[in-house]
Amino acid sequence: MKIYDLLGIGFGPSNIALAISLDELRQLGHPLECLFIEKQPNFAWHRDMLLNDADMQISFLKDLATLRNPRSHFTFTNYLFEKGRLQDFINLKTFFPSRQEFNDYLCWAASHFENNCIYHEEVIEVLPEKKGNEVTLLRVISRDHIGNVRERLTRNLVVSIGGTPKIPDSFRALRNDPRIFHSSQYLSSIADLGHAKRIAIIGAGQSATEIFLDLHGRSSELEIDLIMRGRAMHPSDDSPSVNEIFNIEFTDYMFSRTPEERERLLKEFHHTNYAAPDIDQIENIFRILYNQKVTGISRHSVITNHITHEVETSEYGIRLQLADLETQQIQERDYDAIILATGYLRTHHQTILAPLATYLPNFSVTRHYRIESTPNFKPAIFVQGASETTHGISDSLLSVTAVRTREIGDALASLTHNEAGTITDRRVIA
Ligand SMILES: Cc1cc2nc3c(=O)[nH]c(=O)nc-3n(C[C@H](O)[C@H](O)[C@H](O)COP(=O)(O)OP(=O)(O)OC[C@H]3O[C@@H](n4cnc5c(N)ncnc54)[C@H](O)[C@@H]3O)c2cc1C
Repeated sequence: MKIYDLLGIGFGPSNIALAISLDELRQLGHPLECLFIEKQPNFAWHRDMLLNDADMQISFLKDLATLRNPRSHFTFTNYLFEKGRLQDFINLKTFFPSRQEFNDYLCWAASHFENNCIYHEEVIEVLPEKKGNEVTLLRVISRDHIGNVRERLTRNLVVSIGGTPKIPDSFRALRNDPRIFHSSQYLSSIADLGHAKRIAIIGAGQSATEIFLDLHGRSSELEIDLIMRGRAMHPSDDSPSVNEIFNIEFTDYMFSRTPEERERLLKEFHHTNYAAPDIDQIENIFRILYNQKVTGISRHSVITNHITHEVETSEYGIRLQLADLETQQIQERDYDAIILATGYLRTHHQTILAPLATYLPNFSVTRHYRIESTPNFKPAIFVQGASETTHGISDSLLSVTAVRTREIGDALASLTHNEAGTITDRRVIA
């Protein structure tokens, strides 16, 4: 069986950026035989949240390449140039393209690597290949869309699989009810619920407010409740000084802190990314609620300071018992659909890598994204997007992607030149 230098799980922005970095390294004389495995049938960036009016929450200059190599073919600016829209984009006078356009940019970038990516195949587990007492290779097991199981061997692995939906406890048993779904399935699930009239959105972040505004614009028949634990909607803080926590150097700072200091930093800057929609979203919702007062026609509400206490479903609808966090009073409300804009978990790599757990104590990650392993485990495994607690809030965003992938690429290039795999990435990158 062929042995790859690198297999990548997922082909989202993180691994597309890595493919670009590896291509740069190939041009510098470090070719790597690599293949990425992606479960979607083709590239799409958060497909079910590609809403018409949604914009990027980050400057287009934090694209797949600019911060590492502004002269790259793969910058957003060159994409605009190739598509004949550079001047028009300049005249838009924005740093924040629509999400539709950024998706098109990412599709364009991904299309350059058709020969390095297998679509419609989901990696289900990774097994150790042993020689005596040593793990020398990894066997990556995947399943394609018609159920065929595939196996591939690799010297190294990079896991960049994004998040998995975070489902609150009270809804966990109802996961198979098509009337209750996570924001990551919004567009396809709402399309199947044409009859739904009363809809609750649980959450207070960007996805929750985007979905509220999208539903409001769909039909004047819909009645929408936005239900949140907080007392108010807090806007995302992207002011210049705060934004410095997304700078490249901040990763070194964060990583060098003690666990307590890191925790304090994550708490202090939580509202840059979590439960924090853009201010214009909050203003638009407030304007809709105000207009209801003017017209006397009340369709939507924002219910703050409440959590879901219990959920009952029947063929007629879904009844939520909502508990007031201050008074503990319970109110009951009936809906036709519930949308859980409740965020993501970033631990699924541990499930995929579970057969290797004895070699990867605690799944702790080095500064350069390599999972620490026991001395008898030779393959290097890197993760992207799963190290927020050690590397900072930028880890799950696009902010450091261009530079992070060069760090991983450098480590890989050095490792493959040292077949024994005995050097650590700290020595490689120093
Ligand atoms: C709606 C939305 C909007 C966002 N907007 C912004 C923004 O404006 N700016 C910003 O900085 N960040 C934003 N983010 C954060 C987002 O995480 C990053 O933009 C970016 O998508 C991270 O890229 P990634 O490749 O690490 O993860 P993802 O984009 O999640 O890609 C992971 C890929 O891995 C695939 N995959 C997962 N499991 C497997 C498996 N077992 N086998 C094979 N393939 C698998 C998935 O199908 C997916 O294609 C947004 C997130 C969401 C949900």
